[in-house]
Amino acid sequence: MADVTMATVRPRRHSRPVMVGNVQIGGGAPISVQSMTTSKTHDVETCLAEIAGLVEAGADIVRVAVPRPEDANALGDIVQGATVPIVADIHFNHRYALQAIEAGVAKVRLNPGNIGKEEWEREVLIAAKEAGTPIRIGVNSGSLEKDILDKYGYPQPEALFESAMRHVDICTKNGFEDLIISVKHSDVFFMIQAYRLLAERTDYPLHLGVTESGSLKNGTIKSSIGLGALLADGIGDTIRVSLATHSVHEVEVGHQILKSLRLGRPGVNIIACPTCGRLAGDMFPIVEEVEAAVAKRKFTKDLSVAIMGCAVNGPGEAAGADLGVSLGRGRAHLFKRGEILRTVDEGEIVEAILETIEGWED
Ligand code: SF4
Repeated sequence: MADVTMATVRPRRHSRPVMVGNVQIGGGAPISVQSMTTSKTHDVETCLAEIAGLVEAGADIVRVAVPRPEDANALGDIVQGATVPIVADIHFNHRYALQAIEAGVAKVRLNPGNIGKEEWEREVLIAAKEAGTPIRIGVNSGSLEKDILDKYGYPQPEALFESAMRHVDICTKNGFEDLIISVKHSDVFFMIQAYRLLAERTDYPLHLGVTESGSLKNGTIKSSIGLGALLADGIGDTIRVSLATHSVHEVEVGHQILKSLRLGRPGVNIIACPTCGRLAGDMFPIVEEVEAAVAKRKFTKDLSVAIMGCAVNGPGEAAGADLGVSLGRGRAHLFKRGEILRTVDEGEIVEAILETIEGWED
């Protein structure tokens, strides 16, 4: 990777480690990327196929919804058939949480605002402790407890924080500390504030997310701002980008957010100029093709690749990248750290970039 200062992202907040199956969350572990299936959990075949697609896209952990008895009954098969840790998402019915623990899920997500009685929560904690299953206290702005909502009048950051801490207290009172916390809000600004309160006052690992963030475009923007602001400050141990689209996009966007902050896995980072009136080629499809091919081939070399639209400013602008490409009248120059490597026809650019990455030697 080009020599750039690493001081732009703050050191990560200290958090205690929690194991979710074989994936460590917190305690300095790499930030994991999660997603949630959209298929019916009881349709085991479809659900496992979706999970496999998410894993292929780079998901470290996958959550499944458990709204009905048949979903709870399917958890054993889902856990057995998946290659990543499975998290059971429980609302309203603590019995499903007990069943999920029994089925061997790697984590249970509880929405404390709608589980009901404290004794039910205690039952789940006892079973989770016995099985060594961690719990995520997943507070959501849309489903806070009534008394907290009455107190604050609106799901403001302090209200989310209070709800989370109320349930942390119930857990710790019962000797259960294997916790991960999330305080998701649909308002990005409030979400950031709520997580900052948690980050300042606890050392539990934090699962970051903007809830109900919207479509691929709008949700990506909101999640990038919300998650990005926190991650840039060193806050966050695992992330889920919530998008109203195919779940694979959540994983892709999640990795891109991490990569943008140099918190992701080693890999190729594509940079492309915005183009202007000097553009000397059909650049947009080239960028899209290179991005798609790089994602598919999963290169593990930590390289920056800059694709520039002209030979006027392109070489200069690409000089900071490992591999630079500048278009010019049907041809393109390839540069290695500012030094020209070779010239290819425009139709061969994509293959030339991929070949060069493949054979890259420092
Ligand atoms: S590299 Fe060339 S085409 Fe791209 S923005 Fe700069 S001047 Fe415009």
